[in-house]
Amino acid sequence: MQIHGLPQLPVLRPAATAVPAKTVEETGLDPTKCDLIDSMIRALPGPEQRQQLQAALQGMPTEALARIAQYGTALEVYDKNAPGIPLYAQHLKKPNCDGAYSPTANVVFVDQNNITPLVLLHELSHALDMALGEVSKNPEWVAGRDQARATRACIRPYATHNSAEYLADNLAAHLIPDQELPSMLRARLRQQPQLDKMEVVREHVNYCQGKQKQVDATAFQLCADLLNALPGLPEALPRPALTPQEYLEAKRAELQRLKGS
Ligand SMILES: [Zn+2]
Repeated sequence: MQIHGLPQLPVLRPAATAVPAKTVEETGLDPTKCDLIDSMIRALPGPEQRQQLQAALQGMPTEALARIAQYGTALEVYDKNAPGIPLYAQHLKKPNCDGAYSPTANVVFVDQNNITPLVLLHELSHALDMALGEVSKNPEWVAGRDQARATRACIRPYATHNSAEYLADNLAAHLIPDQELPSMLRARLRQQPQLDKMEVVREHVNYCQGKQKQVDATAFQLCADLLNALPGLPEALPRPALTPQEYLEAKRAELQRLKGS
């Protein structure tokens, strides 16, 4: 549609070498999951990241994606070296930040070079935790984390940082089939060649369901129970993702409250 009175803009044609985007049928991805993921996307540097997000999140069960979408979580991809990143996503500027979830903004954000299941399953699991009313604060998750921290029987030390990380990291690992872990690690190293290869492998040797069951049977059971219970859990009150401006206002109000108290 042309808008009357405005100069006509040149029609942008993709370069002859550009690979046309595949349809969902052609990619072999689950169309229901793709639609749910699509409904959460709010910012992308380019169209190619849409399919990357859909592919990276195929391991998340449909019911979990539906809960997160219903809760109002937004998915955003940025070029971490470009200007204009919202305040809530400034963590991306840190050298070792691959992506994160802001509970205040209710936004999962990731760098365009890091759209991998290893990053996204973890961050979406944080969003699922919030969508379910912070189940990670329930006694079984707190006790599981305390036990894993005390015995060092865990998928990796990072998972025992607190009970929210225990849930997010373990659920992500639980959703990764053993046979898919090597190709995921290869993809991660291909996208981020500057990473220390040995370190990445060491961090992820237990980052799949089978290994989780061996090294932290408690976490394995907690994840299995959570996924089984998902259809019957009450729906959380939707909390639509804040816009960058709303986030600024929320932060200012928080500061005022702190000054006043
Ligand atoms: Zn985390």
